[in-house]
Amino acid sequence: MNFQNTLSYAQQLDREDTLAPYKSEFHFPQHQGSDVIYFTGNSLGLQPKRTQQYIDGIMNDWKSLAVEGHFYAEKPWWDYHERLARPLAKVVGALPQEVSVMNTLTVNLHLLMVSFYRPTKERFKIICEEKAFPSDQYMLSSQVRFHGFSPEDAIIEVKKRKGEHYWRTEDILEVIEANKEELALVLMGGVNYYNGQVFDMKTITDAGHKAGALVGWDLAHGAGNIEMQLHDWGVDFAAWCSYKYMNSGPGNLSGLFVHEKHLGKKDIPRFEGWWGHNKQRRFLMEPEFDPMPTADAWQLSNPPVIAMAPYLASLELFEEVGMRALIAKRDTLTSYLEFVLQEIDKEVESNFEVITPKQDRACQLSVLLHGEGRNLFNFLMHNGVITDWREPNVIRLAPAPFYCSFEDMYRFGQLLKKGILSK
Ligand SMILES: *Cc1c(COP(=O)(O)O)cnc(C)c1O
Repeated sequence: MNFQNTLSYAQQLDREDTLAPYKSEFHFPQHQGSDVIYFTGNSLGLQPKRTQQYIDGIMNDWKSLAVEGHFYAEKPWWDYHERLARPLAKVVGALPQEVSVMNTLTVNLHLLMVSFYRPTKERFKIICEEKAFPSDQYMLSSQVRFHGFSPEDAIIEVKKRKGEHYWRTEDILEVIEANKEELALVLMGGVNYYNGQVFDMKTITDAGHKAGALVGWDLAHGAGNIEMQLHDWGVDFAAWCSYKYMNSGPGNLSGLFVHEKHLGKKDIPRFEGWWGHNKQRRFLMEPEFDPMPTADAWQLSNPPVIAMAPYLASLELFEEVGMRALIAKRDTLTSYLEFVLQEIDKEVESNFEVITPKQDRACQLSVLLHGEGRNLFNFLMHNGVITDWREPNVIRLAPAPFYCSFEDMYRFGQLLKKGILSK
């Protein structure tokens, strides 16, 4: 596309954007009476305006029905979580029975490890990417130690090549091949939180299986951001939080995926609770656990519906728009942001280096700002641009296609220039 770095051109793109009206579906923090330019939807998505009404619905039912709300609320609470499975399955490319919502992300990863990391003396190794998100590192290390192995022996980190900012698929496949005799599990982030790289999940999943291992994905930065076919790819399990691209609110519930091939098994090790029990017989309070034939078998407790309501509100938006349209806008918007950065780069003395690999990116651009420091981030904050800063000089920009506009990208570029020139 022949982009132009002008206000009128950016506004023209907004006029042609069929998703542009969705910007007004979200609440924005205010800066001097206007909406901020929000680049941190990869950290905490904005609040959809309809969310309040979903929470109010639950609060009103609780007020007027109390315990009767479990069965007689407008959306009964006892199976409220099932309303989320169908739209969520579409977001991640799964069958509805493979998806459920419960707990939070790290908790779900631990619970899934109970079922899918069953190391033996021969097969005990886990492959992940180097510098994975800290919670994932702590989770993996503690699981390995829990089973009596040492992280130094059991956790194999795939490294980036010297001088490069991304992982090469061929290197990941090579590490899988080299460890195939002892490999129990491949568990990586589907989209890396730091450099924004999208991994070739299908190829890596196939390679893990060929090596005789199971394969799981942490999709914290994938859900609502990229197209996935978890079922068709044969992924064993996955989990993701809902407060990043899924806009369901701070610290909110996690989605979980378990492939059909692992469902309906009574002999699979699993930590169990009453909400995973056959729902027809749940209230008979029987002693023997009879697992749900769906991913709900992993559910322990009755669903926290006050927390689920915002997730449902958000999923309704995803259902309306569809991943395909979101991704089409995402690609144009991110490319336009990249173009704006290149244009500003020509006008100032600094030098921007996008470290997100162009062929394997989604919403996020991670940018090394050579010659700049935290002052620039502070300048942007003071001028109504919310970004994410990582020491020493990486700025992460995620223009979420649901609510960021092309005009936002243009205005950001102008502020960036001003911030650098006013140093
Ligand atoms: C955001 C994120 C988390 C956060 O985990 P919580 O349990 O929701 O706090 C974990 N892993 C990755 C890769 C993330 O990006």
